[in-house]
Amino acid sequence: MESTRTQLLIIGAGPGGYVCAIRAGQLGIKTIIVEAEKPGGTCLNVGCIPSKAVIHAADEFYKMVSAGQGASDSMGISTGTTTIDFGKTIGWKNGIVDRLNSGVSGLLAKANVQVLQGVAKFRDGKTVIVDGREGEVQVHCENVVIATGSEPVDIPGMPFSDHVMSSTGALTLTEVPKSLAVIGGGYIGLELGTAFAKLGSQVTIVESEDRVLSQYDEQLSTPVVKRLKHLGITLLTQTRASGYEADDAMLSLIGSDNATSDIQADRVLVTVGRRARLSGWGLEELSLTTENGFLSINENCQTSMLGVYAIGDVTGEPMLAHRAMAQGDMVARLLAGQSQSWDRQCIPAVCFTDPEIVTAGMSPDDARLAGEAFDVTNFPFMANGRAMTLEREDGFIRVVTQKHTNVILGIQAVGAGVSELSAAFSLAIEMGACAEDLAATVHAHPTMSEGLQEACLMATGYGLHL
Ligand SMILES: Cc1cc2nc3c(=O)[nH]c(=O)nc-3n(C[C@H](O)[C@H](O)[C@H](O)COP(=O)(O)OP(=O)(O)OC[C@H]3O[C@@H](n4cnc5c(N)ncnc54)[C@H](O)[C@@H]3O)c2cc1C
Repeated sequence: MESTRTQLLIIGAGPGGYVCAIRAGQLGIKTIIVEAEKPGGTCLNVGCIPSKAVIHAADEFYKMVSAGQGASDSMGISTGTTTIDFGKTIGWKNGIVDRLNSGVSGLLAKANVQVLQGVAKFRDGKTVIVDGREGEVQVHCENVVIATGSEPVDIPGMPFSDHVMSSTGALTLTEVPKSLAVIGGGYIGLELGTAFAKLGSQVTIVESEDRVLSQYDEQLSTPVVKRLKHLGITLLTQTRASGYEADDAMLSLIGSDNATSDIQADRVLVTVGRRARLSGWGLEELSLTTENGFLSINENCQTSMLGVYAIGDVTGEPMLAHRAMAQGDMVARLLAGQSQSWDRQCIPAVCFTDPEIVTAGMSPDDARLAGEAFDVTNFPFMANGRAMTLEREDGFIRVVTQKHTNVILGIQAVGAGVSELSAAFSLAIEMGACAEDLAATVHAHPTMSEGLQEACLMATGYGLHL
């Protein structure tokens, strides 16, 4: 068996792993990264990027269909018949993914990182066997980073198949299903459910809890729920899926009162969660501590074994690409001798539903739980000129400030296109800004971002436009 040595070995080239590898290479660390599939991981191949491509295509299609039905008459816009060749849409999405795959490979090469294509398996904490197309390679390393990511969870009795799909399956469909049942009303289910509804599917969301998007407070989720209903999506809460008959395309359901029913579903999309990818790479050969099914790490992303680091989804929530990237960057710097530890004030999160939801820092509920004395101000887009010109007055920006000091503890927003405000929100929190700082910052007019300044003006007691 071929054998090689390196300073740093990274398992998994998702956003966590590849960012760690690029930074390590740039900092002069001899680095090898192993990837079983394609560079970019879940995010680039079957997650963030493909889902946002499909969401964008669905938005464009829906806009044109709606215009054809007279929705834009007041603006003097009308269109003819709109059609979609969804196979072509998916081809376009695949083109973006291919470009990004090549981009990541190029960046790894530029940073002098060696890429091994294959499945990595630990023999011990310093030795990994990579089973690739050209046989096995034994890699000895001084340090190793586990960045194996996560995988979708299925429902007992309903394994993934052509008809019962994970998000990965839904993002490779070449035809829009006539009817689609989405099991799980979290962000992935609602993002994709909304997109397919706009593409013409009859969508039903099946959620076992008493409301969808339960990770957000009701004030944030309400505008999204309103829009789901407007799009004709059926919401079944306190309902569980119990089985699927592919032959007659029927999904069996159990309600809160244990009453059973069936609904038509040509395809079923299961989005009930994701779990750490802990099997297949030899966890059993190492003595690593896990907690609730994720690898335990300290503030330096170090596991319970010296020289073994873990980053990204495999280490738990929040399972977000930008968190994985920030951890990857930090670990590489640490290994290059820089003084580092995880001291980020907030990790923003975006739910790309329609309207979108952005959260950064503490929500009012978080502040209450943390025992903070706080105030909340809320500026509705109804009072924002830009929102009116975009015909999207739904939603608001909410600022949570510490009482007496006005230090910004958290900012949340729900509204069309508010994902682009996430940078301003996290910057304010990361810089330790007070409401006065944002209130005194000149915001360009007319923009949705003026809502942030307005909410902060209100927090200082000097609101203007409300
Ligand atoms: C539909 C969907 C939409 C999403 N949208 C967003 C979004 O909008 N924003 C956001 O921030 N996050 C989003 N996410 C989450 C995001 O994709 C993940 O948080 C991110 O990809 C985690 O990065 P990672 O590096 O930890 O792992 P991953 O991206 O999962 O990468 C892990 C890599 O490790 C490889 N691997 C695993 N085991 C081995 C082995 N033994 N040997 C070799 N290689 C191995 C895998 O093949 C994979 O490529 C979305 C996820 C999904 C599913």
